[in-house]
Parts: sequence; structure tokens; C-alpha cells
Amino acid sequence: MNNIVPYDFEVERLRRELKDAKNIFIQAPDGLKPYLIEVLKALSSKNIIISTDPCYGGCYILDDIAKEIGSDAIIHFGHEKFIEKEKIPTIYIKCTYIGSLEDLIRKTKERIMKNNYKNVAIFTNAQHIDVLEKFIDSIRTSNINVINGGLVLGCRMDKVKEVSNSMDAIFYLGGGDFHALGISLEIEKPVYVIDPYRNEIREISAIKKKVIAEKWWTIHRAKDAKILGIVIVARKGQFNMDIAMKLKTEFEKVKRNVVLLIAEEVNWERLAPFTFIDAFIITGCPRIALDNRETFYKPVLNIEEAFELLKVIKK
Ligand code: SF4
Repeated sequence: MNNIVPYDFEVERLRRELKDAKNIFIQAPDGLKPYLIEVLKALSSKNIIISTDPCYGGCYILDDIAKEIGSDAIIHFGHEKFIEKEKIPTIYIKCTYIGSLEDLIRKTKERIMKNNYKNVAIFTNAQHIDVLEKFIDSIRTSNINVINGGLVLGCRMDKVKEVSNSMDAIFYLGGGDFHALGISLEIEKPVYVIDPYRNEIREISAIKKKVIAEKWWTIHRAKDAKILGIVIVARKGQFNMDIAMKLKTEFEKVKRNVVLLIAEEVNWERLAPFTFIDAFIITGCPRIALDNRETFYKPVLNIEEAFELLKVIKK
């Protein structure tokens, strides 16, 4: 593997496990796509088709398409298994981060000591899950208790809620603000990102404040909507028909008209043509509504926000 690639694409494992497969379908998040050239080189004897679609989680498996085009296997980079059963063999490669974390170990320790934290938990994503325990071992001292929180997903925060009460602060090892923000929205403790790509530690409270303000502003604007569009997301791990039907019933009880929609990709371009709909509720990934507010020109809510809206309407 090329030295400048900071992730382990496990090409030897891929060669081994795919030795009898000829046609391969590849999915990867955008952040990993630039490095796929290494995979193409390693699997040059195979017929490979790469999906250009976004790939935010293990919930997004394009096995129907892969099957239709005759793929023998899917390689899904960057996430762990999420859905129960794929229609064709699927190999999940976490793409473990192999860059140096020395500097960040020092900075994390300094931050913990500066704030006099005695109990902290560190969570992470698939790329760093295999290095987290070592990272934690380097931080622990006789008077700092550091818990390994394990993997966190934007839609699964149970462990965060479970441990946060006994912690002074929560840290997240990984890039971007996506997961740390998700954590901070669930708890009232300080949350920090330990970012290997920017080599920095940053607190997330300012972003959290902005997101919460936007959430309540969106709910406020949706309060007077006469026609609501409830969007069912046609993706393996995000398909939530039961919740969509439950929300439909609940909103009809409070005299709202509901239109059911189904979409594979949800963005403003897909919603904009429904000019007769006043507000939308997305029943797939909770982060679609939350992370794309600036691009939506009408109120767009996730499931949790939809239930908040019901409470506001009923008041
Ligand atoms: S539903 Fe959203 S948060 Fe959950 S795994 Fe999929 S992309 Fe991530």
C-alpha cells in the first residue's frame, strides 16, 4: 500500500476472499473515494464498477443494483455491517486509520488535564475503532479514568446515553463534526472532537447551539403547515414504513393533510417540485434533515422533530 494513504484497505484480504469473484461492485464514502485507485491496482484482474453515489453509512447497501448488473460481490468501504441480509456477498472493510496519533494523544491529555476532568469516555467511528484501545491506554493515568465507548453511529446513541451520566466529558476520535454533534445533541456534557485530519481537539458546543436553534425554528415554521409530506426512504437500512404510517395517523388526528412520498435520495431538488406541500418529514436517516437545513427552502424534519412538532401542535 502506498505510504501516503492513511487507511488500511485490506487488499490482501480482498484478494483472498474475492479470488473466485470476477465482477465486483464497490461502495465507499466520498472521503475514501480518492484512494480507491490503490484498490483498483490491487484487484486489476477483476471487472470493477464503482458507485458514485454518496455512502454515509452501512445502512446504504446497493445490493439490488449490484445484483442487476451481475456483480458477484460488493465491497463496502468505511463502515461496519448494519443491515441484516444482503442479496449478494458483501465484504465490509473498515479502512482503519494508519496515520500517526502521537500528537493527538498529547493534545488530548493536555485538554483533559487543563479542564481537570477525572472521568471521560471516548467514542469513535469504523476507521479508528481498531486503534481506540491503544489510544486510550496512552492517555490513562492513575487519576484519569478513560472509558472505551466503542463505535458510535449518527442514529445509534444508546451507549452514549448510558455512560454519559458518570462522565465529565465525552470525546470522539475521528474527522468531521457529524458524530460529535450527534453525541452532543443527546447529552448535556461537554463534547470534543479529536480530529486526526486537522490534528486538533475542538469543542462542539457552538455548533450544537446553532443546530438546536435551527431545530426549534424549523418546528415553529412547520406548525402551521396544512399539507405535510412524509418521506419514506427506499434504502435498505433506512426504510421505515411503520413510523411513516404512525406519523400519518397522528398528524391526521390533529387535522393535517398528509401526502406519502418515497425516495431513494432525499435532497431539496427531489422535494422542491411538490409545491403544494408545506413541510416534509423524513423517516430515513435522522441526519438528512439536520445536516442539510441550509439547502431546504421549506421546513424539513426528522422523526424525533416530527414528534416534537406534534406536541407543539397539541399544546
Ligand atoms: S441511518 Fe444515517 S446515521 Fe444511521 S448509519 Fe445510516 S447514514 Fe449513518
